[in-house]
Amino acid sequence: EVHVDETELWHTTLTRPSSDRLYLLQTLTHEIDHTLGLTHSMRDDSVMYAYTPSEERRYPHRLSVKDVINVRNLYGSRETTNSTIVDATPTTAATTTTMTTSTTTTTAAAPPTTARTVKLPLAPSDTADLCALKRVDGALIMNRRLCIARKRNVWPIDMRERCYGAPFSFADYFKFLPRNLTRVSAMYQRPSGDIAIFTG
Ligand SMILES: [Zn+2]
Repeated sequence: EVHVDETELWHTTLTRPSSDRLYLLQTLTHEIDHTLGLTHSMRDDSVMYAYTPSEERRYPHRLSVKDVINVRNLYGSRETTNSTIVDATPTTAATTTTMTTSTTTTTAAAPPTTARTVKLPLAPSDTADLCALKRVDGALIMNRRLCIARKRNVWPIDMRERCYGAPFSFADYFKFLPRNLTRVSAMYQRPSGDIAIFTG
């Protein structure tokens, strides 16, 4: 259940929000994700970042790869390797959103969004099933998720659901790694929380 406070100054269209207004699309995406079961993220590119995003992160409004993974880990993924990323584009005619402080549904207050199919970058020849791999390069348990690496791919596996989908390219999943990384030889998480990754 999401309540929208009508005393706030809301930006209700899909155009760039001015800094003195709260962006309704972004706020609703965040709050509806909470109702779906997602918790806050420490990453500032996540829609579940707990703080007001920076000006560049705010617009255009989009889900990060990690946001998509988190929802997939809760509800499963589609069979295709394409994923739908909600992307706010100002081409859609903006409509006025009715807001009320006593509404009990969340979807009624959502502004129209343009659903665009964006192909997530997958490394080539990665249609192979994780269970069919003869060997893996590394495994890491991180945030209740088991990450299995093989060549340029990483499969995040939810430890509770024990489910996994199509692999991600390593450099796309771990954004801080160099793009030319071709292979991981080992990885582990230190007690401090730091992750050590060995390549080559
Ligand atoms: Zn929140």
